[in-house]
Amino acid sequence: MLFLGWFHMRSRCDWCGLIYEREPGFFLGSIYVNYALTALLTTVAYIANMATGAVSEKWMLGLLTAFCVLFPAWFFRYARSLWMGFDQYWDPRAEDKD
Ligand SMILES: [Zn+2]
Repeated sequence: MLFLGWFHMRSRCDWCGLIYEREPGFFLGSIYVNYALTALLTTVAYIANMATGAVSEKWMLGLLTAFCVLFPAWFFRYARSLWMGFDQYWDPRAEDKD
């Protein structure tokens, strides 16, 4: 398990001892992942609504504002997990164990 709570992360893997935060600021990249997906989904939803006119602009503004606050909070854990996966795939480490 990576997380103890919704936002609180373990420092290392119980099984193999891998230290999750490789260096200070390591998880900054996960914020980019989270932001990019939030911006992409918001843009797609906005363009889709512009094309179809399914929801009024006032409602769309409210819905997307709520989405831009709630989605990144929900996706926080997944963004960090993805970031660690990307990092481990492209720059594997085994020597950080101690
Ligand atoms: Zn492990």
